[in-house]
Amino acid sequence: MWRCVSRGLRVSSSRRSPLNDSLRSHISRFFSTDSTGGRSSYTVVDHTYDAVVVGAGGAGLRAAIGLSEHGFNTACITKLFPTRSHTVAAQGGINAALGNMSEDDWRWHMYDTVKGSDWLGDQDAIQYMCREAPKAVIELENYGLPFSRTEDGRIYQRAFGGQSLNFGKGGQAYRCACAADRTGHALLHTLYGQAMKHNTQFFVEYFALDLIMNSDGSCQGVIALNMEDGTLHRFRAASTILATGGYGRAYFSATSAHTCTGDGNAMVARAGLPLEDLEFVQFHPTGIYGAGCLITEGSRGEGGILRNSEGERFMERYAPTAKDLASRDVVSRSMTMEIREGRGVGPLKDHIYLHLNHLPPEVLKERLPGISETAAIFAGVDVTKEPIPVLPTVHYNMGGIPTNYHGEVVTIKGDDPDAVVPGLMAAGEAACASVHGANRLGANSLLDIVVFGRACANRVAEVQRPGEKQKPLEKDAGEKTIAWLDKIRNSNGSIPTSNIRLNMQRIMQNNAAVFRTQETLEEGCQLIDKASESFHDVKLKDRSLIWNSDLIETIELENLLINACITMHSAEARKESRGAHAREDFTKRDDENWMKHTLGYWENEKVRLDYRPVHMNTLDDEIETFPPKARVY
Ligand SMILES: Cc1cc2nc3c(=O)[nH]c(=O)nc-3n(C[C@H](O)[C@H](O)[C@H](O)COP(=O)(O)OP(=O)(O)OC[C@H]3O[C@@H](n4cnc5c(N)ncnc54)[C@H](O)[C@@H]3O)c2cc1C
Repeated sequence: MWRCVSRGLRVSSSRRSPLNDSLRSHISRFFSTDSTGGRSSYTVVDHTYDAVVVGAGGAGLRAAIGLSEHGFNTACITKLFPTRSHTVAAQGGINAALGNMSEDDWRWHMYDTVKGSDWLGDQDAIQYMCREAPKAVIELENYGLPFSRTEDGRIYQRAFGGQSLNFGKGGQAYRCACAADRTGHALLHTLYGQAMKHNTQFFVEYFALDLIMNSDGSCQGVIALNMEDGTLHRFRAASTILATGGYGRAYFSATSAHTCTGDGNAMVARAGLPLEDLEFVQFHPTGIYGAGCLITEGSRGEGGILRNSEGERFMERYAPTAKDLASRDVVSRSMTMEIREGRGVGPLKDHIYLHLNHLPPEVLKERLPGISETAAIFAGVDVTKEPIPVLPTVHYNMGGIPTNYHGEVVTIKGDDPDAVVPGLMAAGEAACASVHGANRLGANSLLDIVVFGRACANRVAEVQRPGEKQKPLEKDAGEKTIAWLDKIRNSNGSIPTSNIRLNMQRIMQNNAAVFRTQETLEEGCQLIDKASESFHDVKLKDRSLIWNSDLIETIELENLLINACITMHSAEARKESRGAHAREDFTKRDDENWMKHTLGYWENEKVRLDYRPVHMNTLDDEIETFPPKARVY
């Protein structure tokens, strides 16, 4: 039972929260009475903004900057300090056909991206991203991003996987702009500096719990928990942009930060909206064996090579042309085959060596200083002398919240597979635009986050005016979420959060792996459903509302479980091999039956699947559609 005892109090100031800057804010207090008569009370603070961005990684910051530039009163809510977002860890770089190393063309980049996506990507969105790419990178340069340089002072561009010239006929392209091997670090700090310059209001260490949906199906904002003092905050906004990143931590071994828990995806699923193509999970070929930390593809771009226990450069057999720079799904599968056939390295023959020791030490020092350090710390290896032990490791989620190329969230409504959800947008790894389709090319994600973060802001400027009057929230807005939070906070079952999490991570690692079969996936569905049910028996020790990491990790676990369940069921249903989804029992791509996006809904704690068509059209006549063909490297 909820009772609101006081409304309409005005807030004058707060130590950390910029409450006084919201257009209108007031406090109310909610009480909850549980079945045993226990009472908890929650302070709820209301805010109104033109737009609210959830997430302060590259996508969220770029959206927030754009919104502020267009004059919108913008709030940016983030569970982490902005520069701790996972974008900071990106190493290799950002693709754009700048043509600094040789002639280049965005159309060639588009062709590579469509091919990389194994024809599951939406070609209108891919065209948009690749055409915008040079502008986006120059804009970053103008914002102050310290790119590596060529001798004559232009932005240096390195080779990266799956990038070619002249529609695959002109050999390897040098298209990946970088700041040594710390591109994400440079990018995130640059964008944060820009956001500071504008009027974006940051709500740092606020954890977004749920969307506030109106009964007419539109989104009216989000409800978040201030982790510092336990107050709840309802952010009403005409536009809500989710930029919450991926959910790599559903797996046991992942290059993603522990904070990549798919919260935005789960918020969308709980709101009854679908998640798209979650079965496509990218394994990066070179995670450090054991530790899982990433060794950038840029290391192969600079000339690094993979060898098996016989010292053989085996990629020559699997991808005769692109070799070590074939796309990630291809390299990960080849490594797994080598290990399976007994040619893995180490005492257990269960990993592969990445050699950089033949490269000039100056190149390592100048272009790959970060990974040289990572290899020393996490693998105990001096890269100038020894190979790095590596293994395919979960790295990126191609799937996410379905959007069109403006960043608007879409769903199926009647006959319309592209119906826009009013007031709701998504960008970055949380979103599925879908520019990566079944497999993302390296260095296309940093591009995706800035291009679509900006696209969201531009779209808001097209459909909304600053200061526009908004509908009032419905009477019970957010109350279900507070009840849910209260239930989790007081959960008194028998299984600690960490046990359920480990169980989930093992199931995902074993049953939704690089190679999949009907048997492993069916078993995976049963196991992951059971793991999700076991959440009802979760046990929390800490009941406080002040920096309660037990509570936050438990909410993140529920979010991960929703992502994990939809991933497993979507994978079980898809009876073909495409991109990162490699089935041993259906080894071919099946365009006739499966060239379609999976939509996974979370209904009554069960997964329901539906499908929507892939966009095979382009935006205009600057380029024609690339029809599907066999994908070889
Ligand atoms: C190790 C590593 C290296 C990579 N290297 C490259 C590369 O070289 N090139 C490339 O193109 N791609 C690379 N990628 C991929 C790319 O970096 C990411 O996909 C991209 O940075 C994601 O950006 P984002 O803005 O979508 O999300 P993130 O940077 O993950 O940010 C998510 C934001 O959402 C916030 N958030 C999440 N949940 C909540 C919540 N409940 N409430 C409030 N806030 C929330 C977080 O605080 C954070 O600010 C790499 C990825 C990894 C893991």
